[in-house]
Amino acid sequence: MENREGLDDLSPEPLRDEYEKQIFDLKQLLEISKSLNSTLDYNILIDSIMYLCMGQMRVLKAGLFAKKGLDSEAFSLHRNYKGFELDRELDYAIHEDHGIIKLFSRAYRTYSFAEVIAELGSADGLEALASLEPSLIVPLKAKGVINGIIVLGEKIDEDDFTDYERDYALNIAVLAAIAINNAFLFEMTTTDMMTKLKMKHYFYTVLVEKMETASEGDSPLSVVMMDIDFFKKFNDTYGHSCGDAVLKQVARVIMNNVRSVDLAARYGGEEFIVLLPDTDVSIAKIVAERIRVSIQNLTVDYEGLHLGVTISIGISQYDPARDISGKSIIDRADKALYLSKQNGRNRVSVLMD
Ligand code: GH3
Ligand code: MG
Ligand code: MG
Repeated sequence: MENREGLDDLSPEPLRDEYEKQIFDLKQLLEISKSLNSTLDYNILIDSIMYLCMGQMRVLKAGLFAKKGLDSEAFSLHRNYKGFELDRELDYAIHEDHGIIKLFSRAYRTYSFAEVIAELGSADGLEALASLEPSLIVPLKAKGVINGIIVLGEKIDEDDFTDYERDYALNIAVLAAIAINNAFLFEMTTTDMMTKLKMKHYFYTVLVEKMETASEGDSPLSVVMMDIDFFKKFNDTYGHSCGDAVLKQVARVIMNNVRSVDLAARYGGEEFIVLLPDTDVSIAKIVAERIRVSIQNLTVDYEGLHLGVTISIGISQYDPARDISGKSIIDRADKALYLSKQNGRNRVSVLMD
């Protein structure tokens, strides 16, 4: 910052103020780095980045465009945007081949919307971005690749951003980009791409963690295991892709029937499992019954067919006295599930012992 315009002419007092501000800002960046590296949860991370940008850059609105999956070809506005009123008619996505992404790659810096248009010569394909009326556009770059775009809305004091503020925003962006890259990779390697539910190994890791917190805090913890009834008939009668359609829609119903603190995973081919923290078996039964009924009421639409589907469920509650591993809780839920199958399917069971 030594070569900043006018700094040499400053008298000692303001010069010291200036340095103090820079030290303060560097400390802030260190804190930001620590906080962004403290989570791999993608949604929590995006939320932290949005609030950080609003606080640090003193803006009333913030949004982040990022890719939804490894195979995404567009950057979409993440649903955790803050303050913006979206227009239902517009598609809040920017294709990865759009000139704006190439511009960000080529000349990595912050941009006003007017600067973007001046560089590109046209606003084609940027209608949604324009409608957000960005006060500043901050590209995110990790490992040499643009992996997101932060869009800041109106500033509290309505002044233009100074060069110093723009530099500062870019420093936040560098930290945010690395954290997003890590969280994105983590999300991709722990999520089943077909159903968008978590994978078995991740479920098991979290189960073991939650067992520890449950026994420390003396709080209940339950597991709900589910298996689609006569799933083979969908594959055998209408083909494998019909089976896949059933799996996806059943997974969505399960997801929609649990809290965000619960963990829903695809346990095997057509088996699903949900971890319910702070939940005893009587409440778990209510949750399981709600899922069972929702799936019974579901109509799977597949190539003009309207298919009905049911699931069988088994429940178990963590018992610190006898469960030394996650496996034994899951085994009990599995045995209860087997009971549901034996007793005619489309039902919820708990082992009586
Ligand atoms: P039950 O009521 O006893 O559970 O009967 P079921 O037909 O569901 O029995 P089973 O568990 O033996 O069948 C599971 C079938 O799921 C076998 C396997 O081919 C199929 N499957 C596993 N993974 C997938 C997948 O990803 N897609 C599709 N389409 N089928 C799958
Ligand atoms: Mg099965
Ligand atoms: Mg089955």
